[in-house]
Amino acid sequence: MSETKQSKWDISDMDSWTAEDFPLGAVIPDSGNSRDYVTGGWRSERPIRNVDTCIECLLCWIVCPDTAIRVADEKLAPDPDTFNLDHCKGCGVCANECPVEAITMVPEGCELPEVK
Ligand code: SF4
Ligand code: SF4
Repeated sequence: MSETKQSKWDISDMDSWTAEDFPLGAVIPDSGNSRDYVTGGWRSERPIRNVDTCIECLLCWIVCPDTAIRVADEKLAPDPDTFNLDHCKGCGVCANECPVEAITMVPEGCELPEVK
């Protein structure tokens, strides 16, 4: 017979907790501090855009969870600055949502196709 896994926290009286009773989670000490951290370091794939196919709808910019797609003058920033690789985590959401399949995810470290 397997042992019942014990909860790390005693939450039996949680219904009566006030805000101060909840254990602290991650703390973000300052607003807007993402520029201080390079969080794209563990990306295994990176996006590339085909400018010939792209219709500049900006949907990729809207859906990127890391705000890693740059826009200038209401268009995607030209290559090679389109994707901020300091923050892009390679999730592929942009490639998945692009209505004309203009974004391709390629493995990091591979020979990249020529950027247009
Ligand atoms: S791969 Fe993910 S994090 Fe990177 S630009 Fe696309 S949506 Fe943003
Ligand atoms: S979603 Fe696709 S077509 Fe729209 S701007 Fe991004 S790359 Fe271009």
